[in-house]
Amino acid sequence: MSTNIEGKVVVITGASSGLGEDAARHLASQGAAVVLGARRIERLDAIVSEIRQNGGKAEALATDVTDVEQVQALVNKAVDAFGRVDVVINNAGLMSIAPLSELKVDEWERMIDINIKGVLYGIAAGLPIFQSQGTGHFINISSVAGLKVVGGGAVYSGTKFAVRAISEGLRTEVGGAIRTTTILPGLIDTELKQGTSHGASSQTVDEMYKMAISPTAITDAIAYAISQPADVDVNEIVVRPTVQE
Ligand code: NDP
Repeated sequence: MSTNIEGKVVVITGASSGLGEDAARHLASQGAAVVLGARRIERLDAIVSEIRQNGGKAEALATDVTDVEQVQALVNKAVDAFGRVDVVINNAGLMSIAPLSELKVDEWERMIDINIKGVLYGIAAGLPIFQSQGTGHFINISSVAGLKVVGGGAVYSGTKFAVRAISEGLRTEVGGAIRTTTILPGLIDTELKQGTSHGASSQTVDEMYKMAISPTAITDAIAYAISQPADVDVNEIVVRPTVQE
């Protein structure tokens, strides 16, 4: 069965670990050319080598999504290497849980810069290319935290509500040939939990993540959205552990 993934050029931010890494490996195994961005270039290079050894197509570029020019360079790299861009997955993210009263202002700013502005920069880089091609697909990674707020999660949830709002606005503005999918993962076993520095919250997060499921659950959702016929736009997919509230 054709998955509609083969031959597509897919840019993924935050591809050095977790959901981005898993999606990169899977999509490459299905015949997509993947272009990977994150700050830890040595990790990206190792993933690219492995994909190529398995006969896949991959490129990497050190990318900090808080810098609009670096995100533009990542998307440009896809065009230079493969001639077009079919999918931009705005996945890079940071979760730092703490009560607002802890006043972790630096961490609020980091989350806003990475989780909101990073997504906007991916849109800024991809949209003109999609418009000139007459086709393209944004996949933005929100969270179950974009549906409800739990203790200590005000700012993280705020950023993930924002991702949904931006995605929905984008869809209504540029729908038609350009598709927009928002994925809302629940607890997934990745390095994300390490972003929490506040001691008591960190313990709560560790406890919550005991119910986490594998990143493949999200990769499957991403692959499903990409696999649809060009006139089918999967708008939102929520995937969480069965035991998560
Ligand atoms: P990881 O921590 O494993 O991955 C986060 C990725 O983001 C890494 O590749 C990291 O790479 C990258 N990243 C962080 N900051 C930047 C930056 N400034 N510029 C570029 N890349 C950056 O966590 P996940 O895989 O779980 O997270 C992926 C997405 O999924 C995030 O948006 C997260 O909010 C979301 N999500 C995750 C859930 C979970 O339970 N795991 C649940 C709901 C949503 P590097 O450090 O090399 O730059």
